[in-house]
Amino acid sequence: MDVVIVVHTEFGYVHNREVVYDKRATQGVSQAVPDLVRVAGRYDAKITFAVMPEVVEYFPSETGHEIGLHIHPGWEEFRTGDLTFQVGDRYLREHCEQSRSSTVLTGYPYKEQLGMIRTGADVLEDKFGTRPTTFVSGRWSVDNNTVRALVDAGMERDCSATPHSPPCHHDWSRLPRICMPYHPSGDDYQEKGSVPLLIVPVSQMFPAHIASPEAAPRMGLSWLKACFDEYYRQEMPLFHMCLHSPCMTDAYFLRIMDEVLRFMSVHKNVHFRFVSEIPEYGPVHPSTLIGPYLLGMNRNMVTVGVRALLSRLHRRSA
Ligand SMILES: [Zn+2]
Repeated sequence: MDVVIVVHTEFGYVHNREVVYDKRATQGVSQAVPDLVRVAGRYDAKITFAVMPEVVEYFPSETGHEIGLHIHPGWEEFRTGDLTFQVGDRYLREHCEQSRSSTVLTGYPYKEQLGMIRTGADVLEDKFGTRPTTFVSGRWSVDNNTVRALVDAGMERDCSATPHSPPCHHDWSRLPRICMPYHPSGDDYQEKGSVPLLIVPVSQMFPAHIASPEAAPRMGLSWLKACFDEYYRQEMPLFHMCLHSPCMTDAYFLRIMDEVLRFMSVHKNVHFRFVSEIPEYGPVHPSTLIGPYLLGMNRNMVTVGVRALLSRLHRRSA
């Protein structure tokens, strides 16, 4: 089984175990990238960093890992609790034609999408010496124009698909939850076709959530491990995990990442790959395996139960 790890590389920090994409928090790149590289190095894991043009000067020049392009168009304010932050890319906002302020590529004219993708690829090529061939769209949002623009800009692989998630500002709802890489149709990016771009969907946990260490606070690390097990037991050729770089500024998420990598690396025939190494595999016939999740749930419930019992006993004896 091949494993890819894709990191949306952007500014931000962690607050209450959630990423806040604050553009003043440059440590989301300058500190997070070397820290993740260190953890990955313990397991010879390969990382594909999808880098926003506005963060390149904070990205270390030699990591030994792969560089892809990550684009957030537009400029909008978002809020989480009392905190506000801006979404968009300062560099692209200043250097590209953008007729809208929307922070999803869907709906931008073809020409403007092509302009942003080309300009972003130029910036990364100037900095790293290699033109990126892997793309990740901000907020997972693409349309048929994006696919056309990616091909025309020389991109070979796209990692924006979150299969089977309900349609919102993005739509990948017609892909099955367990979905292997495919070439899309030019008329419908969710249909198989012959466009020379390989869509490499993110692995999805049951019932529907991207496979990411960032889900651990809500769903438990065991749920992510169960998802890996589900793919592994069925001999799926690829497991694709993703995360946002700012979470790697936080000790809790670094520990989760370390545990996930250790867990995956002890399995036989698991190979960490860069996205650029991923081919279109032969046909697969996956089904939902509930067993690994039930096991994970039991483990969680036992831990929570024992903790509750111990604290009750402690209170009684105090
Ligand atoms: Zn992003």
